[in-house]
Amino acid sequence: MDFLHGQLANVQTHLSFVQKDPIDWKLYVQVFSWTVTLFESYLLLRQYPLYSKTAPPPALEKDFEPGAFEKSQAYGKDKAKFALFSGLYKQAVDSSLLQFGFYPWSWQAAGSLIQKLGYGPQYQILQSIAFVFILYFLSTIPTLPLSWYGTFVLEEKHGFNKTTPKIFVTDLVKSWAIAFVFGAPFLAIFLKIFQWAGDRFVPWLMAFMISFQLIMVILYPTVIQPLFNKLSPLGDGDLRQRIEGLATKLKFPLKHLYEIDGSKRSSHSNAYFFGLPWSKHIVIFDTLIQQSKPEEVEAVLAHELGHWYFMHPTKMLVISQLHIFTILALFPAFLHAPPVLTSFGYPAYVAKNPPTIVAFLLFQMILTPVEAVVSIAMNAVSRKFEFEADRFAVELEGRVKATAGEKEAEGMGDMGERLGRALISLHVKNLSTVWVDWLYSAYHHSHPTLTERLKGLEQLQVAKEKKEL
Ligand SMILES: [Zn+2]
Repeated sequence: MDFLHGQLANVQTHLSFVQKDPIDWKLYVQVFSWTVTLFESYLLLRQYPLYSKTAPPPALEKDFEPGAFEKSQAYGKDKAKFALFSGLYKQAVDSSLLQFGFYPWSWQAAGSLIQKLGYGPQYQILQSIAFVFILYFLSTIPTLPLSWYGTFVLEEKHGFNKTTPKIFVTDLVKSWAIAFVFGAPFLAIFLKIFQWAGDRFVPWLMAFMISFQLIMVILYPTVIQPLFNKLSPLGDGDLRQRIEGLATKLKFPLKHLYEIDGSKRSSHSNAYFFGLPWSKHIVIFDTLIQQSKPEEVEAVLAHELGHWYFMHPTKMLVISQLHIFTILALFPAFLHAPPVLTSFGYPAYVAKNPPTIVAFLLFQMILTPVEAVVSIAMNAVSRKFEFEADRFAVELEGRVKATAGEKEAEGMGDMGERLGRALISLHVKNLSTVWVDWLYSAYHHSHPTLTERLKGLEQLQVAKEKKEL
């Protein structure tokens, strides 16, 4: 532990300028957040002309029914226009909030609010909770018209929206309530650790964050998700047998197999698994079941089980812990830095002794450009995992043969082909874009494009057949 603290102290020595130099941090945040937004707009402008192409890539030509390609292009075009507008709009709102002192005002407002309830400024944690909720609540309001438009105009126009205004409003209220019920105690403990551990907070906070995430892994599907969707056991039949068979052959600890009513809100489709290492649950969207044949859904699940087999979720978790660790390791320099608060317009009496939550919020804004780069790297990792999971599906036959015997592997030889067909039909039904600019895709997509995946599947299939000869 002392070694760790020694290293962390080293980092702080390098960053000590933050506590002394009067840097214009607000200007820096403005410049960088606009740079990120303008870069994202530039990517959309690169992608936009591709929506005017009149034919799909040659490899996909036969998969589109007449009119389907035109539909997907029109959907893509509308989405891109909307994304361009909402990106610039959100940035303009955030930038004005920052420029005109919304953050210092919110801190004061939180102070007055708890004062009215009979608590003074010595109740810093209480004021911090009030502060975060004022920020969260007020800053979601300007984006509400956007999500309304996105759901009831854009998705509606292209036939995806299944949400009613009533569901829209209750979802919103529910998510605010959940944010409060889980967020308030989380924040209280988070800040308590700073108070208690002082500048040696890093390992304690990490331990707390990891336990919180593990608790959420259990609570999310059992407590939170059922508030929004209905999970019901998948009915008996071909599909259930196929998936249970797959799980047994791979020794996947399948506990429950659910169908989720994703179609209540949207007709986009998917499948996923979750749970603890010894007890897993698989959830399949009813839309996927309706849109694809059982043998294709099985192939999608084979891909998902590939993620499990290669421990992708665990690896992602480790990467994200390292990410959080780095952020926390850099934070102390900003924790006791009056010049940072002053540059954002906080009055001297607040800046003199920076409240942890305020310092943390400003610190995160300062990290925007770094976070943009991190997200590109994370996408690259996630794409690699997608290819690995595809490979798993293609090579499943061989794997099952080796572990469970020749007979068990029967009929699995075309898993790759089935996966390809499932991906195509998911894409076509969801009107996903088939023409994608590489830079746009590298920045935004955690999944390779359809064309890339089909090409990958084909190469794997060829390699597999060569091996068998
Ligand atoms: Zn995947």
